[in-house]
Amino acid sequence: MLLKRLELSGFKSFAHPTILEFATPITAIVGPNGSGKSNIVEAMRFVLGEQSMKSLRGKRGEDLIFHGSKSLPRLGRASIAVVFDNAKEAFHLDYDEVEIRRVVYRDGTNQYFLNGSKTRLKDILELLAAVHIGASSHHIISQGETDRILSASPKERRAMIEDALGLKIYHYKLTESERKLAKTRDNIAQTETLRKEIASHLGFLEKQVARIREAETLRAELTGIYKEYLAGEEAILFSEKEQLVKEKAPVTREIEEVRRWIREKEAVGGVEKKNTGGDAEILGWEEKIRAIRGEKDALSRSLGRLEGLIEFGEKEKDRVAREESERVFFPKAAFLGFVGRIRKAIAEGEAALESQGLRKALGAVKEECAAFFRGHEGQREAAHEGDGLEKFVQEKEKTALALHLLSDKERETLTGLAVARAAREEERGAVAVIQKELFRLRTRENELKTQTELFLYREERIRQEEARFHAELAEAGHLLGTQMLRLNEGKVVSAALPVRAEQEKRKQKIERMKIKIEDVGGGGEETLKEYEDVRERDGFLAKEIADLLGTAESLEKLIRDLIRRIDVEFKDGIAKINGEFQEIFAGMFGGGNAALSIVRASAKKRRISEDEVLEGEDENGEGVEEEETEEGIDITLALPTKRVKGLGVLSGGERSLTSIALVFAITMVNPPPFLILDETDAALDESNSRKYGELLQKLKTRTQFLVVTHNRETMTRAGVLYGVTSSADGASRVLSVKMDEAEELAKEDKETAA
Ligand code: ATP
Repeated sequence: MLLKRLELSGFKSFAHPTILEFATPITAIVGPNGSGKSNIVEAMRFVLGEQSMKSLRGKRGEDLIFHGSKSLPRLGRASIAVVFDNAKEAFHLDYDEVEIRRVVYRDGTNQYFLNGSKTRLKDILELLAAVHIGASSHHIISQGETDRILSASPKERRAMIEDALGLKIYHYKLTESERKLAKTRDNIAQTETLRKEIASHLGFLEKQVARIREAETLRAELTGIYKEYLAGEEAILFSEKEQLVKEKAPVTREIEEVRRWIREKEAVGGVEKKNTGGDAEILGWEEKIRAIRGEKDALSRSLGRLEGLIEFGEKEKDRVAREESERVFFPKAAFLGFVGRIRKAIAEGEAALESQGLRKALGAVKEECAAFFRGHEGQREAAHEGDGLEKFVQEKEKTALALHLLSDKERETLTGLAVARAAREEERGAVAVIQKELFRLRTRENELKTQTELFLYREERIRQEEARFHAELAEAGHLLGTQMLRLNEGKVVSAALPVRAEQEKRKQKIERMKIKIEDVGGGGEETLKEYEDVRERDGFLAKEIADLLGTAESLEKLIRDLIRRIDVEFKDGIAKINGEFQEIFAGMFGGGNAALSIVRASAKKRRISEDEVLEGEDENGEGVEEEETEEGIDITLALPTKRVKGLGVLSGGERSLTSIALVFAITMVNPPPFLILDETDAALDESNSRKYGELLQKLKTRTQFLVVTHNRETMTRAGVLYGVTSSADGASRVLSVKMDEAEELAKEDKETAA
């Protein structure tokens, strides 16, 4: 027996805490009208999670709470607990007893507890569903609701039977799965929307990234070419420098040498100054010679004159000696007187003479006289000068000696001159050689200077080249990153020195590629990062969609399985119920036929989402329609003695019997842990009351019964009888009663009713 006890406190008329133990298979509750019997049934409904206020005969939560009486105050809350025996672990919980408690407050709030721990209604319902207890269905049949199953719609009936067959748990699962599926589809839609939102951006970024990659490739290519080019330039520069150094070194050396030589030669150039000294010496010598010669000439002339004088003197001496012997001497004064007179006479004679011939003759006589005198006058003088001959000879000897001495001196001087001249000549030759050499050296120096200037020019050019190279290097570094361009630092020269033309080609290519790269554009890092982020997000969303689709698929499968299972178990259950139903029905009515049949009722099709229809529902090939038939349960019956068929023709008692037959049939097929029947037997006559009692008797081994009854037959079947009374304070009271007491209470009830 699963049901152990019910504890009421503050619920409706039960102001005082009340406990009902259900120790027997059949517990009957008896009492007069209005004593609170039905309140006990409602307390069961309530604690099992009933949500319909209507089935609890109230409007608000506070209607369920004792509202006070003349002598009792109203209460703040109502608390109901039902205790189940879990010794056989029917609830799959590790407790011997399972207590479910529900508390309602005046403000309408409800609380649920499982063995004292607060829990949710949902968990309570699932727990109960697992042991085939539902809140509102077949196992609690309230007063006046005996034929509820008959008056329900096919669809409602189906629901009730499904619940009774224990399919509710599948329905919970189904509903839950459908809810989850709908949520999953929502998530899929949302995620797809998110993905669509980033798709265009991703596309844009992909294009950007493709460009960046292209630029990267170009840059890599450019780096290669740049490296080649720059290495080439470097090599050329290096080679040019090296070449220059190689060429320049000997020239520098030579020019230094040449200059040193020039300095040396110029130092020797002092010779030229001495030169003038040398010439002066020669001139000195020459002067001397000239002086000596002048002196010598004078002496020679003196000597010659002296020798002439001497010779003349000696000849005179001889002639005087010879003439001395021949000569007539006249006194000079007498003779000069004579001559004078002659001349006077002639001069007078000439003046007086007119004859040309005489004048001429007298001129001739005059001339003759003059000549004679002139001729003899000198001889006479010379004859007298012969006394200085000695003097002349001495003088001549003196002169000859002086001349001799001068000749010696002249010889010496000439030698000096010759020596001087020779030295000079020698000097002259040496200077000429130096001059020639200097000339040659200066010419060479000029040549070398020109060369040096060319070197300077080349150096300058190399410097410019170097500057240009560094600028290019910097530019390349700026463009490609210095890391990429590790060059040789001018140390290693590539094996083959590149040709200028090749370099030019490379340079052109570099320029073209630079333009291309510029066209492609840069700004990589951030875009790549963003692209990676967006792509990651897209991937994440795609994966999420895939996961969600997977979830949806497994949910769909679960739903299909559940629907199939419900369907199979339902059909199977219906078949079994029909067997029992027919038997009980025929037993009660003494024949006839009764059966449940599955019908298709028009209903809104089951939708698990906006756009998908569950499998099986369009199996009929009608496709997707807004309205679709749904399976319901119809009841067909035929009474043994009557021709007319169907529910509509049944009397009140017949309806009641049919309902009981059906409820019991269902109970037989899938016995609920307990069945609560509130005056279900009220409309039965004696014979049917007995049959009813027999059925209870039959079923009590499988299902526990709690019956509210006025029926004696029913009371006799009960192991425990509770009498409910309304006490003087206006609250209900419960007490165990004996059969006769129970009958008294029931009678009391009837009397009251009467
Ligand atoms: P019958 O045999 O006629 O069906 P019963 O024994 O089933 O009667 P109930 O319907 O269980 O009687 O009880 C109804 C009684 O409970 C009424 O007298 C009603 O006033 C009382 N009652 C209902 N709600 C409250 C409440 N909130 N506080 C106090 N009493 C209440």
